[in-house]
Amino acid sequence: MTYDSDNIFAKILRGEIPSTRVYEDDDTLAFMDIMSRADGHLLVIPKTPCRNMLDASPEQMTAVMCTVQKLSHAVMKAFGAEGVTLQQFNEAVGGQEVFHLHVHVLPRHEGVSLRPPGKMEERDIIEANAEKIRAALSA
Ligand code: 5GP
Repeated sequence: MTYDSDNIFAKILRGEIPSTRVYEDDDTLAFMDIMSRADGHLLVIPKTPCRNMLDASPEQMTAVMCTVQKLSHAVMKAFGAEGVTLQQFNEAVGGQEVFHLHVHVLPRHEGVSLRPPGKMEERDIIEANAEKIRAALSA
């Protein structure tokens, strides 16, 4: 399996399609998922190409997981969450739909289920949730 540099997240990295960014460093980018399954649902990706965990380098995995941890703390604070669910899918049969490595970060609350997949979130809700995460990161 080869990396397709025209995948949606590669286009987001190049700024060819819009995204709601909440954090970036030299190696990773975090932005809001457009079909959020929980308030604050975001994605963390490496800035360098790889399809998923199966072809990622140790350096890519390390960078992504350090950012995942940072953003997990931020969403806990931003949404008063009691826990965080991480999701990461590998190849189509493993549930992957976009073939650039990404980790879903989902803040969780007692008794609140994840929403079903596939429903577009309102743009103003995504922006408001992103702003809460940015504020938590800068506090
Ligand atoms: P997965 O590959 O993890 O199964 O699913 C891809 C995820 O990317 C889904 O949660 C979907 O909502 C999200 N997604 C798909 N296209 C876009 C897009 O253009 N922008 C953003 N921000 N998220 C997207």
